[in-house]
Amino acid sequence: MEKREMLYEGKAKKVYATDNADVLLVDYKDDATAFNGLKKGTITGKGAINNRVTNFMMQMLEKEGVPTHFVKELSERETLVKRVSIVPLEVIIRNISAGSFAKRYGVEEGIVFNEPTIEFSYKNDDLGDPLINSYHALALGIATKEDIATITLLAFKVNQVMKEFFKNVGVDLVDFKLEFGKTSDGTIVLADEISPDTCRFWDSKTHEKLDKDRFRRDLGNVEDAYQEMMKRILG
Ligand code: UDP
Repeated sequence: MEKREMLYEGKAKKVYATDNADVLLVDYKDDATAFNGLKKGTITGKGAINNRVTNFMMQMLEKEGVPTHFVKELSERETLVKRVSIVPLEVIIRNISAGSFAKRYGVEEGIVFNEPTIEFSYKNDDLGDPLINSYHALALGIATKEDIATITLLAFKVNQVMKEFFKNVGVDLVDFKLEFGKTSDGTIVLADEISPDTCRFWDSKTHEKLDKDRFRRDLGNVEDAYQEMMKRILG
């Protein structure tokens, strides 16, 4: 597989074309942003960790019947993925109150829900990724009814698999963000990444935060938290 021109540079990854039109190459960076790009920094080693953690999770989910864009890990920071057109929805699943949920509804963080919740944000940096419901997404032509039904089903399945996995490594899976894409044949697959950048992980015993909140909230030991999560996940 040959790496060709860069197609896109995002906040945490670069995406390149390859000599196969159906396959892209993702290159993970150490750059970190928060609050819609307002806070910027570097988390040394993050790119390599997020690459390996994401690929591990994607392969586990494939085995459990969730279709993903994963093709092949090439190097510490580089992975081949299927070319998809991203459905511009951020799909957020929550098991425990935190972050914007706690803020929006005026409740403390750490309330354990009886049932997981799902919500969507419209992926649009200019608008600041506003919360959106499925009827609005339909009205805006962002996704079809069938797409939204499939995405919802898959997102809860991902939660089931990940919650169980993280419980066994002493981590509470608080919440996380997923993105889905459509392959050329119209199949919805899980895309983007699953990492301490996109999930909230709390140590089950100490409740210590082991995710990007350490960066967002200036809690210190950011690199250590990412390292610790990689150790727990990859063994
Ligand atoms: N999240 C993300 N990207 C975003 C927004 C949220 O990966 O642009 C993740 C975040 O890391 C957390 C979950 O989605 O695990 C829920 O985030 P929340 O809505 O609480 O927003 P935040 O408090 O991070 O602004």
